[in-house]
Amino acid sequence: MSHVLALCGGVGGAKLALGLARTLPGEDLTIIVNTGDDFEHLGLSISPDIDTVLYTLAGLADPERGWGRADETWRFMESLRALGGEDWFQLGDLDLALHVERTRRLKAGETLSAVTAFFAARLGVAARIAPMSDDSVRTILRTSAGELAFQHYFVRARCAPRVDAIRFDGAATARMSPAFRNALARNDLGAIIVCPSNPYLSVDPILAVPGVREALNASAAPRIAICPIIGGESVKGPTAKLMQELGVSVEPASIAAHYRGLIDALVIDRTDAANAADVEREGATCVAAATLMRREDDKIALAHTVLEVARGLRARDVAA
Ligand code: GDP
Repeated sequence: MSHVLALCGGVGGAKLALGLARTLPGEDLTIIVNTGDDFEHLGLSISPDIDTVLYTLAGLADPERGWGRADETWRFMESLRALGGEDWFQLGDLDLALHVERTRRLKAGETLSAVTAFFAARLGVAARIAPMSDDSVRTILRTSAGELAFQHYFVRARCAPRVDAIRFDGAATARMSPAFRNALARNDLGAIIVCPSNPYLSVDPILAVPGVREALNASAAPRIAICPIIGGESVKGPTAKLMQELGVSVEPASIAAHYRGLIDALVIDRTDAANAADVEREGATCVAAATLMRREDDKIALAHTVLEVARGLRARDVAA
């Protein structure tokens, strides 16, 4: 048996993370999650991508919204609004408990890794879920509306401003979390999977942590990304809009170029199969498969496909 390391953002990444968690024994899977979206709001420490992965793997996520909890109620928000409090970021009543308890634990000196592992265990998640770093990294966007912290861009401004640069404050001095470092150092590492997350806003912050690019570059394990662009569009969120604003053509080859040297293979959607040669020109083996994950079956099927691609690449390495 070999270990699998998945790099993951929020909603798109969590879909494949669920497929992997349904396919692999918990001890064989480490999911490293972006924390560039984390922020402090109303005195609370909020980690949106970690929470999306936690809730998804625990079976608590709202299937429609993709974020937050199912069967949520919003009385706290109603009351906050009536009191004239900041109401642009939605915090459901059930969700609120997680933020309050995380904030208390962080203030008491626990690391985000420890808090995340504790919640995962409490919620019955077997796979290891860990932040990319226990140090603060904050995604900041330079936009037509000025500099915006990630949640101000993503939620408050609904991704409307034009983006011309993205930076990750704190990344230069951040250290990989222990789970991340340990997973990368395993000699039974069988695959590194870059989930179909936003390359610029969800994966780049992970790659900005010192040592991550070098470790991916040097890894003997097969490295496979799943393309978040299907048919020239994002499945959800601002990936395609961002690519246009950053002057990048919205096609799978651009994703392969973005991860050049960091991945061995890119899984693209079957409907984009005609793009395979362009992807391979960017130095990645191209595999076309069904990558649109609507139902749990789709997520599990894509997890199988990706693990199969990893097996194929390992066999090719052994034969070479
Ligand atoms: P966020 O942090 O909540 O924005 O989530 P992620 O960064 O993890 O995922 C956003 C990306 O996932 C977008 O680029 C979407 O196009 C992509 N995405 C969402 N669902 C799917 C899917 O079912 N299949 C594929 N291939 N990409 C998806």
